[in-house]
Amino acid sequence: MRFDIVTIFPGYFESVFAQGIVHRAQAEELVEIRLHDLRDFTHDRHRTVDDRPFGGGEGMVLKPEPLAEALEKLGIGPKAERDSQASSDPTLSAQPPHGRRPVRGDPGVRGKDGAPPARSGTQVVLLSAQGRVFTQAVARELAGLERVVLVCGRYEGVDERINELYCDMELSIGDYVLSGGEPAAAVVVDAIMRLVPGVLGNEASSEFESFGAADAEIDVDVEGVPRSQHGAGGLLDYPHYTRPAEFGGLRAPEVLLNGDHAGIRRWRREQQLKKTLKNRPDLLEGAALSAEDRRLLEALRSKAG
Ligand code: SAH
Repeated sequence: MRFDIVTIFPGYFESVFAQGIVHRAQAEELVEIRLHDLRDFTHDRHRTVDDRPFGGGEGMVLKPEPLAEALEKLGIGPKAERDSQASSDPTLSAQPPHGRRPVRGDPGVRGKDGAPPARSGTQVVLLSAQGRVFTQAVARELAGLERVVLVCGRYEGVDERINELYCDMELSIGDYVLSGGEPAAAVVVDAIMRLVPGVLGNEASSEFESFGAADAEIDVDVEGVPRSQHGAGGLLDYPHYTRPAEFGGLRAPEVLLNGDHAGIRRWRREQQLKKTLKNRPDLLEGAALSAEDRRLLEALRSKAG
C-alpha cells in the first residue's frame, strides 16, 4: 500500500515514520510512504505557498496552484476527470470501496487463507478540522485501497477549491484544532497501515482491539489459551497486566494468574464492558452484545447507580 503526503514540512515526518511498526512495514515493503514538499511546486523566488484570505480576516491560506500542481504530478487529476475515466477503467477509480463491510474475513482486510487482498483505488484525503471524524471504521475502509494521498493544511487552511476539485474526503482526527495537518496525517497513516496484512505479527489481532468490528465473533466459551485481543466486538479493550504480579501495592487480578482460560475470558469481557460503560458509553449502542453481556451490563449499571 502506498501513501503520498503533500506538506510544507516534509521534515516533520522523518522521526515519526522512522520508528517501530511504521518503520518495519516500510523496510519490509508492505507500505511505501512518499513525502512531497509543497514548495517544490512553486515558481517564484520566495517559493510562496500561502496568501491572504479573500474577504479579510486573520491568517493566511494555502494557495491552490502549488497544491493542484503537486497532485497532478502525482497523477491525480480533478475528481470529475477521474470519475469519467473510472467508468471505463475501474482500476482508476478514486471511489470508496462500495459495499465493504469491516468484518472478520473481509477480503478487503485479509484475503481468504491469509492471501494478500486485491487492493484497488486511490483516495485523496484533505486533513481538516472540519472533516468527517477519523475512526477505526474509516481506517479499515481506507486500508483496502492501493493508495491514499494526504493533503496537509497549514495556517487558516487550504483554498476550498482544492477540496472541491481534487479531494475525495475531508478527515478530522478529533474535535480540536491543530496548527497543521501533519500530525493528523501521521495518525491516519499509522492507524491505516497497521491494518495492512502482514504489518502486525498476528493478522487477526487488529480486529480484536478497542473499536474492533462490532460484529466480531463473540466466542467467550471457546477452549484454549485466550488471545489478548479476544472478541472486542465494538467495545474498548480490557486492561492488560504483566510481571511483576505485585506492583505499587497492587496485585494483578488473581484470575489472570491461575490459568483458568474460561475464567480469564469471562473476566476480560466483563472488564471490556466495565471500561466501555465508564469511558465510552456511546459505543455500547453499536456493540454486538450477547445475553450474558447484557446481564453483566445491567449488574454494572445498578452497581454504579
Ligand atoms: N481554520 C481552521 C483551522 C486551520 S488549522 C478551522 O478553524 O477549522 C491548520 C490545518 O491544520 C488545517 O488546514 C488542517 O489541515 C489541520 N488540522 C487542524 N485541526 C485538525 C484536525 N482536528 N484534524 C485534521 N487536521 C487538522
